Amino acid sequence: MLDQDAIDALRHQLIPEQRNLIDGRKVAATTGETRATISPIDGGILANLAESAADDVARAVASARTAYTDGRWSGRAPIERKQVMLEWANLIEKNALELAVLGARENGTEIRMAFNAEPMNAANTIRYYAEALDKIYGEIAPTAPDVLGLIHREPVGVVGAIVPWNFPLMIGTWKLAPALAVGNSVVLKPSESASLTLLRIGELALEAGLPPGVLNIVTGGGAVAGEALAMSMDVEVLTFTGSGAVGRRLLEYSARSNLKRIYLELGGKSANVIFPDADLNAAAGGTIGAIFPNSGQVCVAASRLLVQRDIFDEVLEKVTAGTQSLIVGDPLSLVNSTGAVHGPAQLQKNLNAVQDAVAAGAEVVTGGHALHGESGGTYMAPTILKGASTQSDLFRDEIFGPVLSVHSFDTEEEALHLANGTVYGLAGAVWTKDLSRAHRMIRGMHTGMVQVNRAAPVDVTSPLGGVKQSGNGYDKSLHAVDKFTNLKTAWLKI
Ligand code: NAD
Repeated sequence: MLDQDAIDALRHQLIPEQRNLIDGRKVAATTGETRATISPIDGGILANLAESAADDVARAVASARTAYTDGRWSGRAPIERKQVMLEWANLIEKNALELAVLGARENGTEIRMAFNAEPMNAANTIRYYAEALDKIYGEIAPTAPDVLGLIHREPVGVVGAIVPWNFPLMIGTWKLAPALAVGNSVVLKPSESASLTLLRIGELALEAGLPPGVLNIVTGGGAVAGEALAMSMDVEVLTFTGSGAVGRRLLEYSARSNLKRIYLELGGKSANVIFPDADLNAAAGGTIGAIFPNSGQVCVAASRLLVQRDIFDEVLEKVTAGTQSLIVGDPLSLVNSTGAVHGPAQLQKNLNAVQDAVAAGAEVVTGGHALHGESGGTYMAPTILKGASTQSDLFRDEIFGPVLSVHSFDTEEEALHLANGTVYGLAGAVWTKDLSRAHRMIRGMHTGMVQVNRAAPVDVTSPLGGVKQSGNGYDKSLHAVDKFTNLKTAWLKI
């Protein structure tokens, strides 16, 4: 149970100047430059981060390479790696409240979600891969009788990871935990506007016994530090979560450098499809829970609601009433349902998207405006729009804010056509009691994930990955191990 007094005791904790984590030491950027990280709660400066240059990234990669080559981690018995990772998870859990408050101050996520989806989720993810790492076997090929064909699974070497600001610990550990579990060394570049919690769990990793140099964290801008990592000739695999625009660049960097494998987890424009036979109260509640948490800044957020025409008004009424009962405000207050939008740029993007949609013919059902401007922070009213064209930007493009676009359909075929009517293919949800229809929709939706009669958080046991322009590869589950391992075959004459 989260306790308001305990949260308040941490809310003004001073944060010292932050440094990169290279070779197990905290080091300033070679440039001596720093960058302020701003809190969306009140617009105040939270801390200064090292503004790394290409040289800093090169040092981090060199450290990771040395650590990998001398076997201080890659050469340890799996059971030993497992013990370190389990201890790391324990330390994260012990420090969960401190991490959650730090994260909420940095990215504005409401504290309950900042606690459960971030440190608690990160600890679970690390435990999952720690427990898995000594259960991953090689194979013997069923080949000719006079040879033995062995298939080894080996770490790739040095992994680069670049992550976004919306859930740094959750998404960060989706990369770090499987990559480290199988013996790789990693260089992580967090988002320039959400680095603090990842730097902190980097310290906890050392405390847990992860040898220096196995996990290096370099902060700074995407265009310099991120590009340097993606262009490195000594990084074998780059795993990325973020926007499609940056994802495209990473593919170019790979082509222009060492052809490193690039795994992309990109944006989405997920559809929530409600049929008349569904439990409409559950569907309305699920709709709200699928778009407005973390101010809509969730990659799988169901930002399009598709409702069969006969029940359109009834569903919209229920969803609107539920939305209007949400309380937006200080993310560190337990009474608020939703916290702050990540920063002024994202808030402006959200407001522009609403304005453009209205100019193109959409109607605001509720919200559509900023809130609490006097606080200096960035808050937005949960927003519902109806009547937008299905050819509009509102219907097709990711906003990454608390904005829901509602549309009607007549037939199942039309629902499917609309659901698939974007370049994205990350997730979707279907509400129906008809099992056959549910299965037809699961098969028909061009997404990496479909939920039926729920649109709720999912855990580490199943893969998360996009199709179409939502990405390639999978985070989570044992499938994620494929990204961070190579298969080597050996043929022995018997
Ligand atoms: P972003 O693409 O702007 O930034 C992501 C990371 O890339 C940051 O660390 C940034 O510094 C870095 N970067 C920026 N330019 C770079 C460059 N030229 N070279 C190398 N690195 C560079 O994304 P964001 O605004 O931080 O996050 C929001 C986006 O992330 C949304 O599109 C959202 O849908 C997506 N996202 C996807 C998932 C998923 O699992 N599919 C999860 C969360 C967020």
